[in-house]
Amino acid sequence: MDNTAPIPSIDYDTIVIGGGIAGVSIAYELAEHQSVAVVERESTLAYHTTGRSAATFLESYGNATVRALTRASRDFFVAPPEFVDGPLVADLPLLIVAEEAEVETLRALHEAVNGGPTHSGTIELIDGAAAEALNPMLRPGYTDLAMVDFGSLELDVHGLHQGFLRGFRRRGGEVLKSAGIVGARRERSAWVLTDAQGDELRTRNVVNAAGAWCDEVAELFGAAPIGIRPLRRTAFMVSGPRELPAGFSASRRTMTMSASEDFYFKPDGASFLCSPADETLQEPADAKPDDLEIARAIERLNEASLLGVRSVATSWAGLRSFTADRTPVIGADPTVDGFYWFAGQGGYGIQMAPALARAGAGLTLHGELPADLTGIGLSASVLSASRAALAA
Ligand SMILES: Cc1cc2nc3c(=O)[nH]c(=O)nc-3n(C[C@H](O)[C@H](O)[C@H](O)COP(=O)(O)OP(=O)(O)OC[C@H]3O[C@@H](n4cnc5c(N)ncnc54)[C@H](O)[C@@H]3O)c2cc1C
Repeated sequence: MDNTAPIPSIDYDTIVIGGGIAGVSIAYELAEHQSVAVVERESTLAYHTTGRSAATFLESYGNATVRALTRASRDFFVAPPEFVDGPLVADLPLLIVAEEAEVETLRALHEAVNGGPTHSGTIELIDGAAAEALNPMLRPGYTDLAMVDFGSLELDVHGLHQGFLRGFRRRGGEVLKSAGIVGARRERSAWVLTDAQGDELRTRNVVNAAGAWCDEVAELFGAAPIGIRPLRRTAFMVSGPRELPAGFSASRRTMTMSASEDFYFKPDGASFLCSPADETLQEPADAKPDDLEIARAIERLNEASLLGVRSVATSWAGLRSFTADRTPVIGADPTVDGFYWFAGQGGYGIQMAPALARAGAGLTLHGELPADLTGIGLSASVLSASRAALAA
């Protein structure tokens, strides 16, 4: 290396790669302290997984770290800062229903998530009749036991993403679209990034918020992969039955999921959003819905509910990108200078976004988590790219 070469001038302190919810949320936090740009390969932001979610906030979902980060995000959603056009939430209790064979699975879930610092609402085990009263769209007699989490919410994902973007721009942040990063080289203490048009961008630090592509991006910088697994999930819309069951009201809604997580559905206007809750490993790409998974879900939904699904109005799919321990990877790469991770958001990247962005900024800027997050039991090592659990 030629140490006599002049240090190249820097365009930004930090470049964040990826313009989904991960990229814009951490960029907003970093821009309070630094000059920051978000670079996105697509011509629009949030085109991939962020634009394809089920838009729910479920404190009972995911492992203990995910649940803690979700819980720590609640206040932001319920009372968003002024740069976000609120409201971002509506009540949407989570109802997890178990047939006889799933009852033990549900009891174990209830045991794991009920109470403790990672949950704010009321969680109850209820019988089938009470579940049917909460969601009259359930087929009478289907449910043996159910768990209801009254603290769950529906989120305005577009409002959240736009809010972070607005806040970021107000702090002087810049967004470069149609700017896929295809190369990187180290010049003294700076990174020089090349985009697909051959343009170069110089930065001190890089944050990898590239979702399903995070290991491909790491390779450009000479960083070891974290073993990301992009798992496709399909979703589709159906119209409701011609005759709504007695007691059903569009204003008293639930997110209803099976205890083995092999289907879920929630009302969406006059229609219903449904999913087979599939997890099929695939290469990072513009994910497409899987017709066989949709057929499987229709069968399960018609067993469990009175939806009477015959046809699908629209369908889509997105990649939920998981690490081996289903926990995000945040902070400095263990070997590559100036390269930071913000990846592995899995199926929870929206509901964790406010707290995760603060965690990411703390670890990127100071190598430490904010005090309120360590106070609820989170630690940098659980999120680190060098943790042993990633090798599993
Ligand atoms: C069907 C479905 C339902 C879901 N439901 C929920 C839910 O209810 N609640 C919840 O919290 N989460 C949910 N999720 C998960 C959530 O959507 C994700 O965790 C979150 O969107 C991940 O955001 P991201 O920014 O990491 O990824 P993305 O939104 O995929 O963003 C990554 C971006 O990086 C860009 N990129 C990649 N490589 C490069 C490069 N070389 N140069 C420049 N840009 C690059 C990509 O173009 C992409 O825009 C759901 C997901 C799916 C698919």
